[in-house]
Amino acid sequence: MATVLAHSDSPAANAQTNSKSTPATLPPYRLASRLLHPHDTVIDVKGTEIGGRSIVLMAGPCAVESEEQMLLTARGAKSAGASVLRGGAFKPRTSPYDFQGLGEDGLKLLAKASAATGLLVITEVMSEQDLPIVGEYADILQIGSRSMSHFRLLEAVAARGKPVLLKRGFQATIKEWLLSAEYLMAHGNDQVILCERGIRTFDTEHTRNTLDLSAVPVLKRETHLPVIVDPSHATGRRDLILPMSMAAIAAGADGLLIEVHPSPDSALCDGKQSITPEELEQLVAALQPLASACQRTIGTMAA
Ligand code: PEP
Ligand code: MN
Repeated sequence: MATVLAHSDSPAANAQTNSKSTPATLPPYRLASRLLHPHDTVIDVKGTEIGGRSIVLMAGPCAVESEEQMLLTARGAKSAGASVLRGGAFKPRTSPYDFQGLGEDGLKLLAKASAATGLLVITEVMSEQDLPIVGEYADILQIGSRSMSHFRLLEAVAARGKPVLLKRGFQATIKEWLLSAEYLMAHGNDQVILCERGIRTFDTEHTRNTLDLSAVPVLKRETHLPVIVDPSHATGRRDLILPMSMAAIAAGADGLLIEVHPSPDSALCDGKQSITPEELEQLVAALQPLASACQRTIGTMAA
């Protein structure tokens, strides 16, 4: 259930002030816009608030591979302060010859790791056909970058009634992304989280994508929806997770989605951008002072 919070110095308050002096035109993403909904949306997922003062950590492997991998990751993520366990069971792979995910068996492993730790589950739904089964296991349904403009999928996912994390299409403008959020909202789902995961630019030698950090403050001004950042897919490099996470927090992100694997070098998918559970713990410790400086807390350990 989405609720609202007011922060007096937030873009919401500015939007209100501005709207008094200059009559603003309603953008086409009217439900997502701050103009009609000036206060931040805070999404409560079984007691975990997304979009509030605390920066939420979502962590886990790119793909669910085994019970041991999931339990090790989930326990590590939990002790690092994560509240959401990620892991793909249905994987959108560029090549049809790459590992496609464990399907329903993967969802069962997510459920097992969630039951062992109390972490919420986020996992991707790639097609309408998979929605009934994925919707049974996911606390948050993830729409991947490649599916952001799959409008019939958005409509079906909206109707499922669960919180949705909408990744930015790697070729999408901010407006197109907000219009995809609008599809979800126009079909009755106001529990939408936006996730910046990098866009495709010309340099693919040093980074996998280009993390569009300016999207974060732009979105905070344009929309009331929570905004999180995925530095893993944005960079493709584990050594860039710390600096880009710091930058994301400084830019105003409400959460981080980070790929974590107990042995990244043997991961079936995205090992180069994955960190270990121990490294996640160190990352969170390194981010704490910055979060405090930004008047935020980070993770479940934070007071
Ligand atoms: C993922 O998070 O599992 C994923 C496939 O990322 P993206 O859709 O951003 O490429
Ligand atoms: Mn991945």
